[in-house]
Order: sequence, then C-alpha cells, then structure tokens
Amino acid sequence: MMNLNRTVLAVMATLICMVSAGQGLTKKQAEILVPRPALQPVKSLDPLNPDVMAMDTLDTSSPSRKIVLYTDNTWRYWVDGSVVGTDTTFTKHWNTNPDAYGLKFDDFPMSSYVWLMDSTDRYHFPGSIEPTKVSSRYGRRRGRYHRGTDLPMPRGSEVYATFDGKVRVAKYSSGYGNLVVLRHSNGLETFYGHLSQINVQQDQWVEAGQVVGLCGSTGRASGSHLHYEVRYLGYAIDPEWMIDLESQLLRQSVLVIRKSMLSPDSSYSPESDDEEESIAEADEAERLEEERKEAERKAAKYVTIKSGDTLSTIAKRNGTTVSALCRLNGITTKTILRVGRTLRVK
Ligand SMILES: [Zn+2]
Repeated sequence: MMNLNRTVLAVMATLICMVSAGQGLTKKQAEILVPRPALQPVKSLDPLNPDVMAMDTLDTSSPSRKIVLYTDNTWRYWVDGSVVGTDTTFTKHWNTNPDAYGLKFDDFPMSSYVWLMDSTDRYHFPGSIEPTKVSSRYGRRRGRYHRGTDLPMPRGSEVYATFDGKVRVAKYSSGYGNLVVLRHSNGLETFYGHLSQINVQQDQWVEAGQVVGLCGSTGRASGSHLHYEVRYLGYAIDPEWMIDLESQLLRQSVLVIRKSMLSPDSSYSPESDDEEESIAEADEAERLEEERKEAERKAAKYVTIKSGDTLSTIAKRNGTTVSALCRLNGITTKTILRVGRTLRVK
C-alpha cells in the first residue's frame, strides 16, 4: 500500500516537473494533464455571434430559457429550442402546407391577443432595405388580394427571422417560390417568399436575426424582393400592424387581432399564388406612371399672358399646339385670356 502510494506520488511529481519544464510531453500526455475545455474553448451557441465565445450558462425560472455569458462581458437570454419546440404550439397543425390550419373564417376567434415581446424576447427586421422603400403593401388592390408586404432588396441579400421560432416549411411552393415559414411561440407565423436560397431546414429551431435565406425572385415574382407575410391561425394580417416600416421596429409589445380587421380573402388559397405576380406588375406600372407624372411636373414651363396674346400665338411661340395648351390648363378655345394670367405651356 505504502509502496503503491509512493509510486503514484513519484509519477505525479515527474509529470509536474515535465509540465513546469514545459517540454518532453507529447500532445496526448498534455491532454491528460490539462482539462480539455482549456484546450478547446466552448464554441458560442449564438448563431448571430459565432465568433464570441460563450463563457457560462445560467438557469432561469423557465426551463427553456437560459442566460448565456460571453467572454466579451456581454450576456443574453437564450431559448432552448429542444425544450420549447416540443410545446403543442409546434406539434398541433404541424405540416408543410402553406396553411396548416384549414380554419373556417366563421371559426376564427373574435379577438386574440398575441404577445410579441417581453424582456427576454428578441426581434429582427426581416430584411435589409432602406426605410420606407416598400413596393407592394398588404391588402385589396384592383380586385386582388395581396397577403403580404413586398420589400425590394437586391438578389442575394440576407433575409432574417423576425422572432425565435421553428421552421415549419422550407421548400419550393408554386407561387411563393422558395418559401420559409416559421412558427413562433406566440402562435404567429411569418412567411418569407421568393428566396433565391433557403438556409434552414424543416423542424429546425432558429433565432431572431438568424439568416433564413437569401432574397430572390423564385416563383411568380417580377424582380428581386422579399414577400413577407404574418399569419395567425392561417389568416394573413397586415405586417404593418406589427412593424413600423419606417423605423423597422415593432409598434407595440402586444398585437391585438380582431376578426373585424381580417378579410376572409386573407386565408391561403392556391389561386392566390397567381395573384402575386400581377399585383407586383401592376404596382410597378403604377410606380412608373407616378414617376412619369412627376418628371412632367418638374419639366413644367409657365408664361404670363401679355396684351395681344392669343392661344395660337402663345402656342406658336412655345412650340406647342392650342389643343395641348387647352388640355394642360383645363381651358377651351373660348376661354377669355386675361392679361397677367399664367398659362402652362409644357
Ligand atoms: Zn408579395
């Protein structure tokens, strides 16, 4: 017994001498002596901050929420998707159809309160666009129903998860093109359509701000843009109720959804896929028309009527026609021209 202890002590002393001398150890021997974590730091769990090392994790009163401490002295709440993801929110009505609920409009609740944020939740704007630059808004236009908000962004630009959530759909879906649908703990769903690339997999847990895909124009889309939808129980609501597009921030911490705010048309229907492109095209045409009118307004030229002027002399002097003058000024050839009045000639 004594001998064995002495032998152990002797070996340890030798090893300690070798370590303090800092040489003569193979890598294998060094790993036995030095605990592994010291050699290979724990990699950050945070997909948003992969380069900053996580130092420690603290429990909270909720089994699914932890506090992660980082080596750069920052901390944040972290949601354990493997715990939250088993909640009935993520198991009932869980399939890969764009509408997983198939709820009749009559059965939609009269009003619902959806918590968007508390102090431990996080949020990220879905795209990276200039504030207020929106091409097509939500709602009924020209007899069609647009169920989302279109955010024009360059092809390949990153598209972000709005909140933490679980990937319900990550596939090509006719009109939507490459589509990602996330379901969030509060029951809301967010849709990200026309992606050029999908970066997540079905049933994966993602965090707010994580890149779910890259912007594109797959499916029925004219031009690269993100088609962003917010749905509750299968019915699309105007994303602008939730997000102020100018500041790109949430408007409030609780979203009140009244049935009266919804249209039966806002449920998913396969025909609605076809409407996306025509809405986008019509909106583009409207925008070009507005630009043309604006350019015309800018190029406008005015003259003051002098004594002896007639419409035809004014027209001749300004290289235009009498009928063009009448149209521009809302007058007829019988209108009396008062000296000093201003006429638009261009
Ligand atoms: Zn759209």
